[in-house]
Amino acid sequence: MGAIAKLISYPDKILSIFFLRILPESIHLAILALCILHKHYQIFTARCAYAAAVKNSWRRLHPPPGSGECSVCLSELAAEGEECCELAACGHAFHRGCVERWLSAHAPTCPLCRAAAVPEEEAAEYRRVVEEEEDDWIEKEFALVLLNALDVGRCNHGIFS
Ligand SMILES: [Zn+2]
Ligand SMILES: [Zn+2]
Repeated sequence: MGAIAKLISYPDKILSIFFLRILPESIHLAILALCILHKHYQIFTARCAYAAAVKNSWRRLHPPPGSGECSVCLSELAAEGEECCELAACGHAFHRGCVERWLSAHAPTCPLCRAAAVPEEEAAEYRRVVEEEEDDWIEKEFALVLLNALDVGRCNHGIFS
């Protein structure tokens, strides 16, 4: 309580600390936080759009083709319990799980003939946000400013004690 009473008895110091340090730092932090939110919102929507495009890229095959192998996992297409599909772009058949994993993690093209399975627009946007997600300078900057602000807070405390 003593420290707070002492602090209140220096209104000019409180004002100068507020306008010179706390206010600019708060604004800086708020702007960085908004940038981070915006970035992650963009990443989220691009991921959803890409997942939807992957879902639209294949047609269910039922029953599975009598012969042939899935060129992603190199096992029989007609294997027990495996759901098969063909890519709408080129008609090549795969296990549904295999081709979905391929399109999500490897490339937006057919594993066999490289036909574009997902529209180039969605694929390009998806690539862009994945790169952006790896580049985390905004998060680092936010952490630095926050740490700095906490440190300044500790120093200010020292002025009055
Ligand atoms: Zn497979
Ligand atoms: Zn193909």
